[in-house]
Amino acid sequence: TEGKDGMTHRSGQWCCRLPSPVSLREVDQDVTGPRLRTIRVTEKLLLNGTKVNFSFMSDGFHDTVRKAFKVWETVGIGLRFHEVQNIENAHVRIDFGKGTGNWSQLGRDILSIPKDQATMHIESDDLDVCLHEIGHTLGFKHEHQREDITWDADAVYTFFENEYSWSKEDVDNNILTANPPNGVEASAFDPDSIMAYYFPPGLILEPEKYQTEAWQPASGLSETDKADVKKAYPPILKKEPQIRLVPRKTVRIEIRPGGQKTLLVKPIETGAYVIKTMGKSDTLIVLFEEEEDGELKVIAGDEDSGKRRNARIRTRLRKERKYVLKVRLYSEVTNARTAVV
Ligand SMILES: [Zn+2]
Repeated sequence: TEGKDGMTHRSGQWCCRLPSPVSLREVDQDVTGPRLRTIRVTEKLLLNGTKVNFSFMSDGFHDTVRKAFKVWETVGIGLRFHEVQNIENAHVRIDFGKGTGNWSQLGRDILSIPKDQATMHIESDDLDVCLHEIGHTLGFKHEHQREDITWDADAVYTFFENEYSWSKEDVDNNILTANPPNGVEASAFDPDSIMAYYFPPGLILEPEKYQTEAWQPASGLSETDKADVKKAYPPILKKEPQIRLVPRKTVRIEIRPGGQKTLLVKPIETGAYVIKTMGKSDTLIVLFEEEEDGELKVIAGDEDSGKRRNARIRTRLRKERKYVLKVRLYSEVTNARTAVV
């Protein structure tokens, strides 16, 4: 519908209830400040440059979901979304039907859900709902769960209990508890974010205008949503310089905090190999095997962010195969923006 200010408003007043509170990675006690912040804004993101397979578990609004994946993809990001028939090969498993509402697991959490269980549930045949839930799958949290919003908690509990039969815990997990910010950098308050939902007047004390006005986000992805997803998943350049990893040699790579690099691994003989990072950087490393069709299959991964140890993969590699190692740098504790592998 066209609002009086000419903006396209959303067609429905929907909401979304995540299946569990946002789980944050445990870090060592001395990990604080910018180092912790970088871990918090990056830890849920999927690895950039990967193909994300999705599959449907039941009849439902398949075309609306397909369209929503297209909308995110055509922002121009480094992820590709691909529909598969076999649920075993799907990273994102989507179920439909009345009952549990709209929800998705958050970012990399989808990878630890058993293969026979849904990672996303859609109840409303609404493109905005599908965009929102895919946003969670990409690792984005609710825009309205911010430090700089002051809620009238009792009013929120009452509204969501009456309207959606939510418990106090549901309200805490999805509305009142402030989350670490989305994306690679914290973005300013974006009332039109797809990651916010509708709130009637009187639930928010600050910003003050929401005491008398509804918070009615616009339809579709906001400009800030688009900027955030491109920062989190920058487009992959075809001509990215290729770095080779060879046995018994260390490679120093330069990565901006929150950024990622891809290394080629070509074993000179079949055998057991150890790949590890060195130094104090917080890193995530994932090793892929390149399949015959050029697709990458995950072999192993490890992460040392917020911990004193280093990321380390021990695995068997075969001589005739091609492997790639993706390295994400969360933050650096020294001045050099490097990780050594
Ligand atoms: Zn949500």
